[in-house]
Amino acid sequence: MSKVVIIGAGGVGGVVTHKCAQLPEVFSEIVLASRTEEKCKAIAAQLDRPIKTAKIDADNVAELTAFLEQEKPDLVINVALPYQDLSIMDACLAAGIDYLDTANYEPLDTAKFEYKWQWAYQDKFKNAGLTALLGSGFDPGATNVFTTWIAKHYFDEIHELDIIDVNGGDHGYPFATNFNPEINIREVTAECRHWENGEFVETPAMSKKASFTCPDEVGTYNIYRMYHEELESLVKHFPTLKRAQFWMSFGDNYLKHLEVLGNVGMTGIEPVEFQGQQIVPIQFLKALLPDPSTLGPRTKGKTCIGCVVKGLKDGKEKIVYVYNIKDHQDCYQEVQSQAISYTTGVPAMIGAKMILEGKWKKPGVWNMEQFDPDPFMEDMNKYGLPWQVVELDNFDLD
Ligand code: NDP
Repeated sequence: MSKVVIIGAGGVGGVVTHKCAQLPEVFSEIVLASRTEEKCKAIAAQLDRPIKTAKIDADNVAELTAFLEQEKPDLVINVALPYQDLSIMDACLAAGIDYLDTANYEPLDTAKFEYKWQWAYQDKFKNAGLTALLGSGFDPGATNVFTTWIAKHYFDEIHELDIIDVNGGDHGYPFATNFNPEINIREVTAECRHWENGEFVETPAMSKKASFTCPDEVGTYNIYRMYHEELESLVKHFPTLKRAQFWMSFGDNYLKHLEVLGNVGMTGIEPVEFQGQQIVPIQFLKALLPDPSTLGPRTKGKTCIGCVVKGLKDGKEKIVYVYNIKDHQDCYQEVQSQAISYTTGVPAMIGAKMILEGKWKKPGVWNMEQFDPDPFMEDMNKYGLPWQVVELDNFDLD
């Protein structure tokens, strides 16, 4: 029986709230707090049990600390934006509360995806006896757990990792992003980095393309190599990895729009002067694009996200692929959201459950692969993200 404060009432916040509300035996009390309280109330109205809502500015550490001291939750689930990670961690430390998020901290003025700012909190959380779990979404999140589970059960040593994120869904708009447009566009326009022989190698964004056929008739898609934050923690925690790459599917239409928007400067993150005021182009673009939380009813098709690992077992090379397939419309029927928010929100709920049940509770700041993957994998099967495992004879994306 535990009380959680969920911060952020966007696409992911809606799913986490639904999923926590489905498990009253674990999440006995839920508070949903965000910058715009009406959005919290709209989510609360979809549920069949009462939850409390609140307005909070998570950039304001003093205000958030006072709020947490008053509410006294057992855990804060941060599904606001990556910009708020450090202020929410500071407030959790001040109020003595465990912490979980789904994306690493990003400074507003540089699109940098690095754990260094949050890893620097290790001693603070350890000394305070508090747990901070970083990146408990799907990727990062379930992908870290998949890799750890494969390494634990199939290999003596793992050598190559390919994380493949395919979204075979179609929302019918010429251009829209499936999660926060600002965060999404910062991520996909960033320089690509992958791990090769002991170092990160940089290549231009979207410069490496491959074709991938998903299992179970989800289809064949063009996937592009890009940087993703879980690569940083996984190569640190699995030092035997010689190569680690992240791939995501993009349709030609999405890429064409992105190219044009980039060429005309609409994806820029530096403020520009416009009619006497400063505006950030990407923030203006966000205001024009469809809100990802409204895509649920119109998105059809499936996601297929998984990890292919090559390594050695008893001196022999093996290849193992673990993946989850999720249907957008099934997600909408269950929690009124499309599968991108769903596949992020469910692992956030499971990570929270792991901490609250004491299975993943340990003072300090941790990435997902630093805990036993087995209970998390069991819960993915139970709570809406069933996975499959197959051994492959060969695998090559080059
Ligand atoms: P949204 O933009 O839909 O939602 C973000 C919410 O946070 C909004 O309700 C917003 O308020 C609120 N918010 C923003 N700033 C503040 C603040 N200062 N104080 C309080 N609330 C604030 O984003 P998503 O739901 O799509 O994404 C949420 C998080 O999940 C992001 O960090 C994203 O990077 C991460 N993510 C992780 C994935 C993974 O697999 N690991 C995949 C997808 C997303 P308002 O409504 O007023 O704008």
